[in-house]
Amino acid sequence: MAWVRYSLWRSPCHDHRTTWSNGRYGAPPVPEIRSRDVACLAVVCARISNMRPEILFSTFAPVSGLPGVGPRIAKLIEKVAGPRLVDLYWHLPTQIVDRRYSPSLARAPDGAIVTVTVVVERHTPAPGKRLPYKVFCSDGSGQLTLVFFHAKPDYLQRALPVGEERVVSGRIRHYGDEVQITHPDHIGTAAELDALKAVEPVYRLTAGLTARPLQRAVRLTLDQAPDLPEWLEPQFVSGRRWQGWKDALLAAHAPESPDDLEPGNPARERLAYDELLANQLALALVRESVRRGAGRAVSGDSSLRKQVVASLPYSLTSAQERALEEIWKDMASPARMLRLLQGDVGSGKTIVAFLAMLNAVESGAQAALMAPTEVLAQQHGDVLTPLCAELGIRLALLTGREKGKFRRETLADLEAGDIDILVGTHAIFQEGVAFSDLAFAVIDEQHRFGVHQRLALTAKAAGARANLLVMTATPIPRTLTMTAYGDMDVSQLDEKPPGRIPVDTRAMPLERLDEVVQAVRRAVGDGDRVYWVCPLVEESDVIDIAAAEARYAALAGNLGNDVALLHGRMKSAEKDAHMSRFAGGEISVLVATTVIEVGVDVPEATVMVVEHAERFGLAQLHQLRGRVGRGDRQGRCLLLYAAPLGDTARARIRIMRETDDGFRIAEEDLRLRGAGEVLGTRQSGLPDFRLADVGAHEELMLAARDDAKLVLERDPDLSSDRGQALRALLYLFERDAAVGYLRSG
Ligand code: ADP
Ligand code: MG
Repeated sequence: MAWVRYSLWRSPCHDHRTTWSNGRYGAPPVPEIRSRDVACLAVVCARISNMRPEILFSTFAPVSGLPGVGPRIAKLIEKVAGPRLVDLYWHLPTQIVDRRYSPSLARAPDGAIVTVTVVVERHTPAPGKRLPYKVFCSDGSGQLTLVFFHAKPDYLQRALPVGEERVVSGRIRHYGDEVQITHPDHIGTAAELDALKAVEPVYRLTAGLTARPLQRAVRLTLDQAPDLPEWLEPQFVSGRRWQGWKDALLAAHAPESPDDLEPGNPARERLAYDELLANQLALALVRESVRRGAGRAVSGDSSLRKQVVASLPYSLTSAQERALEEIWKDMASPARMLRLLQGDVGSGKTIVAFLAMLNAVESGAQAALMAPTEVLAQQHGDVLTPLCAELGIRLALLTGREKGKFRRETLADLEAGDIDILVGTHAIFQEGVAFSDLAFAVIDEQHRFGVHQRLALTAKAAGARANLLVMTATPIPRTLTMTAYGDMDVSQLDEKPPGRIPVDTRAMPLERLDEVVQAVRRAVGDGDRVYWVCPLVEESDVIDIAAAEARYAALAGNLGNDVALLHGRMKSAEKDAHMSRFAGGEISVLVATTVIEVGVDVPEATVMVVEHAERFGLAQLHQLRGRVGRGDRQGRCLLLYAAPLGDTARARIRIMRETDDGFRIAEEDLRLRGAGEVLGTRQSGLPDFRLADVGAHEELMLAARDDAKLVLERDPDLSSDRGQALRALLYLFERDAAVGYLRSG
């Protein structure tokens, strides 16, 4: 099952563990298909028809096949870079060691890394177990002592024969009058001087893996890298002063100065562009394929919509009205709609989705709304059911939990067309679920689904000829949207409903927990309702839950029956019961893991306590805070952190205190993540690029989008020479499933 773990490790979202393991989409993926964006589509649609080009076979061979790389080293390399040669291509150096400095020993400064030619004078074996073996050398200007602990005398006598000239490279240390190098990095013959006097790439390592075997594996890998036909326009490459792919790859692994490690280095830019182009091309192919499929024009008579708008206790914001106009216009057109509705937490996406669905219902067809969690599906059901009852239309709920007769009846009614709106989790696009006439589908909070699942769902909805609206609360910058969705139509809710009071946000060290508990007690006494969120521990929801349970027990000890617990492993019925008791005011404190992050709407909730706030990404903190301050009472958010705070966590908390503007938060998040923080990426469902730096390579991203568009306009089947080369690019970056979307596969 190694590959299963592997694909999870690479995937930007952990939510779909079950998707693979229970084989919902049929057979599990074969190990060769590991594309991050579109792999799942290959399985869903089984349309992949092209084999990987032969020229790339060796590229995807396992690292363990390299000469001299044993299973132990291969495992470590897999851990730090990945299991295949191609993973080593993308494992670019993070630093350099400059070994070009060759001073005379008399002038070699303390601390410098030098490469010097010396004559070996004598060996003094270690006088005791803890004491070092020493080799004394000189270069005419001065003496050098080479120091070895736990030495193998045989080896040293062979490597450093007395009376001979040798080249050694390492860091100089002065101890009194003695000039030393302890454990030189390199020992070679005089003939090897030039090779050793080089700038050496330094790669990210992992515990147990040292620099040498990894460097060696990378070198062997690059020696075997194939020459691939150029997939970029020659003028474009020369205009940017780039090299061909292979030369760029070699150059990126042979940095000569610290500048060469920056994202602006031409070799790195070229590789990043290739990755972005593969991403854009894959997304464009999927999108074109969706669009190409028959669409349908949907336009109702406004009767239901008018009734709902008139009955709302508020009027729509102009952003909501604008979005609705755009959506209705898309629906009315015979081309298939594929639109993204972006709006910060609390901007009122649900009502927009509902009014759009009513348009379909008015025209006599069905609509579906899919949420990422049962809690959220249930909540949508609770909010929309009374509205539907008023209109005399029928809404049904379908999640993983409805079983037996009730489920069968729901499915039968759906197929008979007796259900107008189906609300649920991804269960609504499962096998055995057939609509009578699905014209419009909405996917809510879709950033939570992860890239694989999202594209699978898109394909499923598209298969039903439905117009598609996807909604996300991640107010990510436009360029980032493009990496995840391609060049999709976007409507934005850039305006919040009026009258919202900004949430009062404070940060406090965990040592002051007692005070916080007292404050919660007082708040509950004042009739407030409180969320208490316990931290997310990566890779382990068991630990999460244990932490939440412990906190629950402690708070219940203090506050009694007023507290309930909510976490992802609880039975659905239990979750619902707690959620509705909290919404109804029967309990005042809800201790939860991040299951509540998504979309939960209890307007009476006013206090949000986030425990171990330093472990959350900015976007996530913003989402959590968005759960309070929805009604007319002042919302409060308490970020409890474990001191001392790291720089990134400190910056996040500062930003949370400074602003509640989702866009600014998203941009800051990106900036902070640029500094190597990946947690946020995982949770926002963005693809995790290995070469492109979405912050630094924005301009490349735009160019790649235009390039992909132009390519498909001119050569939709990728059949020209350049098209063929681009297919290889898709394989190289494991976007190969997209090849199955070509008109003539
Ligand atoms: P989100 O965009 O986060 O999904 P919701 O759709 O849950 O936001 O809306 C948040 C809250 O705002 C809901 O309680 C909803 O009734 C309310 N709301 C939506 N639109 C408006 C509006 N135009 N004016 C006032 N309140 C609104
Ligand atoms: Mg919502």
